[in-house]
Amino acid sequence: MSTNRAAPRTRWVFAGQLGPLFDDGGRMLIVEARSVFGRRPMHRAKAHLLLSALRHRAAALGDRVEYHRVERYADVVDGRDDLEVIDPTSWAARRFVRRRPIAILPSRGFVTAEDDFRRWADSRTGQRMLLEDFYRTVRRRTGILMRGDQPEGGRWNYDHDNRNPPPKHAARLGLPDPWWPEEDDIDAEVRTDLDRWEREGRVTLVGDDGPRRFAATPEEAQHALADFIQTRLNDFGPFEDAMLSGDWTMAHSQLSAPLNLGLLDPLDVVETVVAEYHAGRAPLSSVEGFARQILGWRDYVWHLYWYLGEGYPTARNALGAHTPLPRAFRELDPAAIESACLRETIDGMRRHGWAHHIQRLMVLGNWALQHGYDPVALNQWFVDMFVDGTPWVMPANVIGMSQHADGGVVATKPYVSGGAYIDRMSDYCAGCAFDPKVRLGEQACPFTAGYWAFLDRVEPRIRDNPRMAQPLAGLRRLADRAAVVDQERRRERW
Ligand SMILES: Cc1cc2nc3c(=O)[nH]c(=O)nc-3n(C[C@H](O)[C@H](O)[C@H](O)COP(=O)(O)OP(=O)(O)OC[C@H]3O[C@@H](n4cnc5c(N)ncnc54)[C@H](O)[C@@H]3O)c2cc1C
Ligand code: SF4
Repeated sequence: MSTNRAAPRTRWVFAGQLGPLFDDGGRMLIVEARSVFGRRPMHRAKAHLLLSALRHRAAALGDRVEYHRVERYADVVDGRDDLEVIDPTSWAARRFVRRRPIAILPSRGFVTAEDDFRRWADSRTGQRMLLEDFYRTVRRRTGILMRGDQPEGGRWNYDHDNRNPPPKHAARLGLPDPWWPEEDDIDAEVRTDLDRWEREGRVTLVGDDGPRRFAATPEEAQHALADFIQTRLNDFGPFEDAMLSGDWTMAHSQLSAPLNLGLLDPLDVVETVVAEYHAGRAPLSSVEGFARQILGWRDYVWHLYWYLGEGYPTARNALGAHTPLPRAFRELDPAAIESACLRETIDGMRRHGWAHHIQRLMVLGNWALQHGYDPVALNQWFVDMFVDGTPWVMPANVIGMSQHADGGVVATKPYVSGGAYIDRMSDYCAGCAFDPKVRLGEQACPFTAGYWAFLDRVEPRIRDNPRMAQPLAGLRRLADRAAVVDQERRRERW
């Protein structure tokens, strides 16, 4: 009988792999590399959450873990041949582990396996890779919200029921504050370390040092999920796209950070939420809307990150956008911003390192698109300034969906709108120095006028896109087009 058994390997886990899903027992390695925090300015809340999650995980693993605080990953892993990893979550990390004698296991933390997505995508020769088609394939495969081969309730999509504006004259949705974690000694130590690193010039932190609002442990993440189900799930669908200046969380789950840290299994999350529908405690429109975000969107952008390749973010700049990000964005400083929608969104980011989806897409993204912000710099800014920002989540969302810099690979048209959309979906305009209906003069809304100036600028690049035919026809009919374009070129107040 052979006695030549391979010694068990030590599993090195990264910041996106900190939950039970990534732990099969056995020895673990966690490396806290300070260089990760010093590469570019980072939101303080994000740096805090990452460090807190790493250190909490190490504390929970006890003597099963080797925990190192070093400058660079290489300081710990070079020269070792006893390590294994679950395939990490960025091109850079995958390159790093592949250059070393490290055993690599298939990635986890998503509902669809990478090979399955690739097969699905490759099978679509000549067809677009639509989220809707991918999502239906996943529903059929998993049986989630299915009755035989038909979607539960007879419809795949409840978006139509889920686009309500906020209730009229309401300052808030009227939901209790979400459950938030209580900080402990580990958070106190993180805070002290960040203060010291900042004093020593090792890191540049942006944004407020508020209490930690996002789950850093699997237990906290389960609390946040249970609280979402209890207090917000029913309102999630109807108010998914709504914005209120007095309500920074609305009915959103705030689960993206714990999901991206690997603290929750996304399939468990969806199954837990779907069970609420089957128990008669939550409406199908909300439950389907939520399942779509996770089974659909979250997985879809993960797979596109790999499928579209490492060069995707820089391969094209289809709308010729080269403007550097302004100081108000880089420093998250709302003080000089007069547009209420943008000011409130940047202010919320300053405080929490988070904004909800429509603020990201239709306020921040829309503004950046209209003003031709450099898409690669914007992509990086989103990664660094959001607690849930990761390299994999951003390209499809920012380069593709929000900025249309890929020329239409991810979205069929630019997500651009004037102030009328923001006015319909929020209460921002009522408290703003500008008027969403006005496009010329002192009160001209920067989003409304900016919309026309944007179309004017990119017209030659999008005129062949049939989905832009109507907006471009509107532009051609605009009697004061030249004056609006000139005004926006000179705009100083925004
Ligand atoms: C410009 C832009 C930037 C974004 N940046 C990030 C980011 O840094 N990190 C991130 O996780 N998501 C990002 N998203 C997607 C989405 O806006 C956030 O996941 C969501 O706002 C997080 O808040 P929540 O957990 O309350 O989400 P909910 O509204 O409660 O949605 C539930 C979950 O669905 C998932 N989800 C929904 N939409 C998407 C999507 N488009 N891509 C990926 N996951 C999705 C998230 O895991 C989220 O937690 C971005 C979207 C845009 C348009
Ligand atoms: S008026 Fe324009 S700038 Fe002001 S909040 Fe409304 S959309 Fe934003």
